[in-house]
Amino acid sequence: MAEKTPRRRLPVAQMNIVIMTFVVYYLFFAIQFNSGGLIPSSAGDLGGFAQAIVPTATALGVYVAWFVFQVLLERLLPASIAEGTPLADGSRLSYRINGLAAMITSLVVVGTGYFMGWLPMAWVYHHFGAMLTSVTLFAFALAWFIMWWGANNPGGPGKVGPSFFRNYFYGTALNPRTPPVTGFDWKFFCECRPGLIGWVVLDLCMAAAQYEKYGEVSISMWTVIAIQTAYVLNNFWNEAWLLTTIDIQQERFGWMLVFGDLVLVPMTYCLQAYWLIDHFRDPSPIYIAGVIAFAAMGYTIFMGANLQKARFKRDSDNCTIWGKPAEFMDTARGTRLLLSGYWGKARHMNYLGDWMIALSFGLSAGFGSIIPYFYPIWFALLLITREKRDDRWCAKKYGDDWQRYREQVPWRIIPGLY
Ligand code: NDP
Repeated sequence: MAEKTPRRRLPVAQMNIVIMTFVVYYLFFAIQFNSGGLIPSSAGDLGGFAQAIVPTATALGVYVAWFVFQVLLERLLPASIAEGTPLADGSRLSYRINGLAAMITSLVVVGTGYFMGWLPMAWVYHHFGAMLTSVTLFAFALAWFIMWWGANNPGGPGKVGPSFFRNYFYGTALNPRTPPVTGFDWKFFCECRPGLIGWVVLDLCMAAAQYEKYGEVSISMWTVIAIQTAYVLNNFWNEAWLLTTIDIQQERFGWMLVFGDLVLVPMTYCLQAYWLIDHFRDPSPIYIAGVIAFAAMGYTIFMGANLQKARFKRDSDNCTIWGKPAEFMDTARGTRLLLSGYWGKARHMNYLGDWMIALSFGLSAGFGSIIPYFYPIWFALLLITREKRDDRWCAKKYGDDWQRYREQVPWRIIPGLY
């Protein structure tokens, strides 16, 4: 009998690590050293790029100081305590909710430092490459520590497999905490604080660089800063809601999330502001009004859908949606599925709203380069993949009930289209 050859697994973790890191660096190359073009041109300055990304002790120091500052704010500012969703064993973890205070304090400290002349914010723009490598090295090291810590102190459901890279990439614990269970929650902290607040601060650094260069901050720069700051503020305004997201409830904390939270989010989401320093400085007020209206529509759908589900989950018997009692179906699993409001129009309309906001970031930067559209393009792919994965997970969780729900709400993300 012919011997069965074992099926070779693709090194998905290693490939993802290389590809994601490459993409982040490539975007910086494209926007700064390739005139915003995606395809390398003869004018592309690879030498300049190679020089720019060399890390420096100062850049590393700036990032470590930022990270530690955020840890201190999380630990020391007054916080309310929120309970996470039940874990597999029925227990719940407690979380410190003080992100809004941390964000406001950060902005006050940074703003004061800038206006007093202590913090030359444009420095970050001039040393963006060194900062990028410093943050990347920090994220790689932190992911290693988290993998080791999670394996030795799981404090809840974890998974340590035989493959180093899979452990490193996906993580070894769902909720690594120091000390375990009651201590500092690495995932919840990294999901929001250094990256999201850092993103807004990076935007402000770009505005400072523009001011230094041209003596003014353009209307398009203000627009992108306003829309992105509103997005982050909104996140913290509803911080406890984050505990219900898939990342917090279901993903182990490994390189994938560490890199996404600490590197990808701040260092690529600020590229619209980066581009706007020298471009699209004088768009028409009508265009800007259109972009703001589009973003506002996105917010309405995004927040509306997320809050409808959150209110419904809290008290489905007394929940009204758009002025009427919520319609729902009971399931064999014991939890109910909402059938009215946005959740009756498509199974993930929250993703549509979120994506519209992402597109408004790109639109704020005009049409001179594709790079400011990286975020909406990448995010569309992420949301499509995420929706398919959630659909699979829900089909498993809910069995036939999910099929019944799918029949009642046939659209995935965009009613009538997808
Ligand atoms: P969702 O908030 O969409 O939650 C999906 C879960 O909700 C399902 O697994 C199911 O879990 C429950 N559910 C699904 N349909 C219904 C229904 N009809 N009634 C009641 N419960 C239902 O998932 P995400 O965590 O992916 O997204 C949360 C938000 O975060 C989204 O708005 C998304 O856009 C945003 N996001 C942002 C990212 C970023 O980088 N900016 C990245 C990813 C997400 P169960 O029944 O077990 O509760």
